[in-house]
Amino acid sequence: MNPEVVFIGLGNMGFPMAHNLIKGGFSVAGFDLLQSNVDRLIAEGGIQGVSLEQAVKSAKVVITMLPSSQSVKNVYLGEGGVFEQARPGTLLIDSSTISPEVAKELGKQAGERGMEMLDAPVSGGPVGATAGTLTFMVGATENGFASANAYLQKMGKALYHAGPHGSGQTVKVCNNMLLGITMIGTAEALRLGIANGLDPKVLTEIISKSSGNNWVLNACNPCPGVMEKAPASNDYAGGFGVDLMLKDLGLAVENALSTQCSVPLGANARNLYDMHSKAGNGKLDYGSIYQMLGKGS
Ligand code: NAD
Repeated sequence: MNPEVVFIGLGNMGFPMAHNLIKGGFSVAGFDLLQSNVDRLIAEGGIQGVSLEQAVKSAKVVITMLPSSQSVKNVYLGEGGVFEQARPGTLLIDSSTISPEVAKELGKQAGERGMEMLDAPVSGGPVGATAGTLTFMVGATENGFASANAYLQKMGKALYHAGPHGSGQTVKVCNNMLLGITMIGTAEALRLGIANGLDPKVLTEIISKSSGNNWVLNACNPCPGVMEKAPASNDYAGGFGVDLMLKDLGLAVENALSTQCSVPLGANARNLYDMHSKAGNGKLDYGSIYQMLGKGS
């Protein structure tokens, strides 16, 4: 049986996204370098026994959720890759977080081959991917965005058309740069208050009703014990890894260089997460940057 949807990259994000498409009634064939990830999807109703080439040739939609710009380029542009195999008219959706420049180039090349391509990175992490509540930030033509609606709806609850090819990735890079900076600022403020003898719960409550209020403070407070369910209260396990934040800040700095834009706080934030990662904390939640700031007096 030929699948309607081909899903390439079944990791922490891709697996639950593909699973939600199956639950939403689509026939999906999943592909990953790890056979165990493919087998897991088959156990949840994924199509089996079809090769990647065969599946891409007949699919209506190809979705990718891969680690990096390079892996996305390999899958689309490589020998025997998606661009070579897919028929004109196939809808291509890349939800990986990659460089806006690469997304723009892929969107252009897809158009030259008679295909609509979307850069459609997401916010919401594995929890949002499992719940089907991701936010999609899309760069595409109007037509491409409209054609993808039925599929994106099954995986997310907020779908935004940011502009032409590359715009989705640009929004993602801007959002995550702000998030990385906000985490460091929030951790600094909490450290300063604690060093002056304040209870971090009291400090958090008052700031959250004042002008320093922000999402990090209320959703993933980096001070252990302030929020029972935050990664900080669980030895910084789960959540959004330091290395993922580092990757996104790297994309922001790279983009700032190519657009000649100054991002002094973004660049500093990247360096701090880089040092924190090199000290062996790459897999911890990014709120663990709080630990790097030391104890205070
Ligand atoms: P992951 O490492 O868990 O999954 C990536 C999967 O892609 C792996 O299973 C890997 O085997 C597979 N893969 C790599 N190259 C491949 C290839 N050539 N062909 C087939 N499969 C291949 O990563 P993830 O956490 O699922 O993240 C995926 C993307 O989503 C990344 O770009 C990441 O930046 C972005 N993202 C992640 C989060 C998060 O919280 N994890 C949140 C938002 C966005």
